[in-house]
Amino acid sequence: EGSLSNGSCKSLFKMPEIKFTKLFINGEFVDSVSGKTFETIDPRTGEAIARIAEGDKEDVDLAVKAARQAFDHGPWPRFSGAERRGIMLKFADLIEEHAEVLAVLEALDAGKLHSWAKMGDIPGAANTLRYYAGAADKIHGEVLKMSRALQGYTLREPIGVVGHIIPWNFPTTMFFMKVSPALAAGCTMIVKPAEQTPLIALYFAHLAKLAGVPDGVLNVVPGFGPTAGAAIASHMDIDKVSFTGSTDVGRQVMQAAATSNLKPVSLELGGKSPLLIFDDVDVNTAADMALLGILFNKGEICVASSRVYVQEGIYDEFEKKLVEKAKAWVVGDPFDPAVRQGPQVDKKQFDRILSYIEHGKREGATLLTGGKPIGKKGYYIEPTIFTNVTEDMLIAKNEIFGPVMALMKFKTVEEAIKSANNTRYGLAAGIMTKDLNVANTVSRSIRAGIIWINCYFAFDSDCPYGGYKMSGFGRDCGLESLHNYLQVKSVVTPIFNSPW
Ligand code: NAD
Repeated sequence: EGSLSNGSCKSLFKMPEIKFTKLFINGEFVDSVSGKTFETIDPRTGEAIARIAEGDKEDVDLAVKAARQAFDHGPWPRFSGAERRGIMLKFADLIEEHAEVLAVLEALDAGKLHSWAKMGDIPGAANTLRYYAGAADKIHGEVLKMSRALQGYTLREPIGVVGHIIPWNFPTTMFFMKVSPALAAGCTMIVKPAEQTPLIALYFAHLAKLAGVPDGVLNVVPGFGPTAGAAIASHMDIDKVSFTGSTDVGRQVMQAAATSNLKPVSLELGGKSPLLIFDDVDVNTAADMALLGILFNKGEICVASSRVYVQEGIYDEFEKKLVEKAKAWVVGDPFDPAVRQGPQVDKKQFDRILSYIEHGKREGATLLTGGKPIGKKGYYIEPTIFTNVTEDMLIAKNEIFGPVMALMKFKTVEEAIKSANNTRYGLAAGIMTKDLNVANTVSRSIRAGIIWINCYFAFDSDCPYGGYKMSGFGRDCGLESLHNYLQVKSVVTPIFNSPW
């Protein structure tokens, strides 16, 4: 029977003052047109943290109007890259100055480990801003060598007003992954944070204003998917939508874009990423990596290694170690430094994960450990590992988005590749082996946007990632993602009496 850990130290939690609860439109915090509000919930208890203004279509219209005005007539797209860079660097500095409160908001709203928010998400946001700030003055086209009588060049222009629809699993990281390249490109934008995690996005809006981002450039409209989100996807005056979330909603966003103004979309969707462990590796290290691959951020991460394939030579030893480690994994209050896994983000995800666990049992998989909720309050779930999983089972096919691993066995390299690719998704994959040739062969054979060899979750601002297959298209991070927010214009002039 799992129990909630009180940890070895006391929780470092102190309720912060929640300063920003309204929509941020045209540089001001405002109530929604309808006057409606919704509760954002503390996943540790299921209780409300604050009431947030609820954006809907009318509010999105106002935000788009502000962003359109800022794009068509404002300074942001007309600034030199160096001017945009200066403001973005100031924004990054402010994030560092406010890091303490930001880390608390991130952990509180999403149930993330406070220590991770402080070490990872918040400094990572400043890094991402700085990375793209450095690109802002290096956006340029090419000179074209056309026919003798023609001269051409390309301009890379900002795409215009962007709608960013972001999920709740990484409220900070997702915000800056999308906002930073769009700012560098000279776009103006509307961000709709997920309804589960609106707090930190509003705080970032405040910091953007302090940094000198002009009014109307960055608008934040919290609200629900079918209302505020759908209004963005189908808006006639938004020039591009960037979406991260579920595959089902990604499809709806693309449909809405197609039936409105044909705006381009980039979609970062679900995953069911394989981790392939070959029998020449250190079993202990491999078990640690596999466990982190599924339990990091409570499994609420699109690149989680939710399918782990282990070569038969080390399988038994691996399984034993994995289960021991899973049992010792500390679940509890994310503000307790001894804790490694906090609560799932909300009741809906909690119920969804538990129902997948029931499916797994019913389908005949063997539950090695976990499988139950923990405690009477909040949304905690035990680290859960299934074995004897076959590839037709739901727990092997669907994204569960929770601390639930499907563990499987393989014999040959060919079999491992075939299994890894036996999915409609293609976001990430991990390979553990000492054999360079196996690592190279497998990494070229797997259809996924990022492959980690002897590591997992190795991300950086300059490393693009995104989906193959039904995990979506377009890339976040790296210079690659600037292309999401730029479009190319060719300019051609005739040359009379060319000497060449
Ligand atoms: P979701 O796709 O419903 O939500 C993501 C974002 O899309 C939120 O901001 C939401 O408000 C918005 N949205 C919802 N419906 C919309 C619509 N019709 N039009 C426009 N925007 C809309 O995700 P969810 O229901 O919160 O989670 C369900 C599953 O999605 C998870 O269990 C997980 O499998 C997957 N997911 C993946 C990621 C990822 O990083 N790829 C993130 C979150 C969730």
